[in-house]
Amino acid sequence: MIYRNNAQYRLEKMTEILELIDYNGHAYIEGKYVNRDSKLVVYCLTHREENPTTFTNYIRSKTGMPCCGNVSKSKVLTGRVYSAETIEKMRNAAYERIRSPSADQDWRRSTASRQWEGEVQALFCGIRNVLLVVPNRT
Ligand SMILES: [Zn+2]
Repeated sequence: MIYRNNAQYRLEKMTEILELIDYNGHAYIEGKYVNRDSKLVVYCLTHREENPTTFTNYIRSKTGMPCCGNVSKSKVLTGRVYSAETIEKMRNAAYERIRSPSADQDWRRSTASRQWEGEVQALFCGIRNVLLVVPNRT
């Protein structure tokens, strides 16, 4: 049997959790406080992840989200981003090497390289214009 808290208490809890979500840099998606185990869905603005949790778990954990969970995890995430970048860089460098036999140094100093780096930065800033050829997902 589920114990139901009175309306006033639920409203206070709801306000409390919304303040906590805001404080953590997250956004409230959905979830109604009925009891401690009520479902709560929160979106992380930093990691762009949506996580289903419960009110209790969200309040209890330090950061509220597994993606913000700990430093080592965030380092893993950063590493993943950079390795993807590295792969892309290598692919471009290889392509450039086919066209001109000059070394990687030349590629790095080239205008094309700088342009490419700018494109990558723009991509990570969320500005997705006509930078990379993204396969059509249909
Ligand atoms: Zn996060």
